[in-house]
Amino acid sequence: MEECVFCKIVNGSIPAAKVYEDDKVISFLDIMPANKGHCLVVPKKHAQTLIEMSEDDLIATVKAAKKVARALSLSFGNGSFNMVMNNGKEAGQIVNHAHIHIIPRFQKDRLRIKWSHLKYEGDEIKEYAEKIKKFI
Ligand code: AMP
Ligand code: ZN
Repeated sequence: MEECVFCKIVNGSIPAAKVYEDDKVISFLDIMPANKGHCLVVPKKHAQTLIEMSEDDLIATVKAAKKVARALSLSFGNGSFNMVMNNGKEAGQIVNHAHIHIIPRFQKDRLRIKWSHLKYEGDEIKEYAEKIKKFI
C-alpha cells in the first residue's frame, strides 16, 4: 500500500498530529477539519472499507473511537460529536483506507450532516427488509 496516505502516517513516513495510538489503531487530527478538533480513527492494517476490516481491528477501532470522542468532549466541553464513516466512492470516501471521523459539534456551528427523508410506498419497507435479511 505504498501510495496510501494513511499507511504512510501509520509507518511514520509522513507526519500527523497524533492524539492516540495502540498496536492496532492510530488517531490523528484531520488536516481539513469540518470543525476544529475533528479526528480520524484509523486501523493500522490497511483495509479499504468497514467490510474488509477484521473483527479484531473493527473492535479496536470502535473502542479507540470512543476514547477519542470522550477526550474531545472533555477537551471542548459540550459532549456533542458526530461519528461518521464514509464507505465507498458514492458515500464520499476519498481516502481508500478505512477510517472513522469524530467531529466535535458546537452550538451554532455551520456543519450540516442532516439528510432529507424519503417515504416507502405500500409494502416496500417489508420487501427491503426481506432483501437485506437474505444476506445477513
Ligand atoms: P473521507 O472522505 O472519509 O475519505 O475523508 C478523508 C479525510 O482525510 C478528509 O477529511 C481529509 O481532510 C483527511 N486527510 C487526507 N489526508 C490527510 C492527512 N495527510 N492527514 C490528516 N488528514 C488527512
Ligand atoms: Zn492504507
